[in-house]
Amino acid sequence: MSDDEKKLLDRILDRTTRNPVTGCWECSYSARNVKGYRCLSVRDRTEYVHRAVYTLLCGDPGDLQVLHECDNPRCVHPAHLSLGTNDENQRQKKERGRANNRRWATHVREQVAAMLAAGVPKTAIARQLRVTREGVTRFARRRKLAAAAT
Ligand SMILES: [Zn+2]
Repeated sequence: MSDDEKKLLDRILDRTTRNPVTGCWECSYSARNVKGYRCLSVRDRTEYVHRAVYTLLCGDPGDLQVLHECDNPRCVHPAHLSLGTNDENQRQKKERGRANNRRWATHVREQVAAMLAAGVPKTAIARQLRVTREGVTRFARRRKLAAAAT
């Protein structure tokens, strides 16, 4: 790793916090933000931060995409990243039901989760947080599945 690369990695990891629940390294470093993904400029190119970290720590992914196993666009944990083709990425998105429905920001998900746990009716949650009731229902179902899987 060159000095420049080391500096870049340090700069990214300096702005990264470990999520105690998911283990994700959530990065707030970015020159730009594209679709929830953090970006930075590397040699005049716009690069996703998670891809830059992957390249620095694991090697150049070449034509492949760097995918998030944890489904958290801000995460740069090398163990949560995997390589895949564009097709695989699209399929994964579809399977996880986020092809046509934009993911909520983390703070919205946290709020919805807290309100569900407190027994607030879904309609009230939807109204208060300005999301759709269907979205809340889907979220609740996904969490139930996730809980059952562990
Ligand atoms: Zn992660």
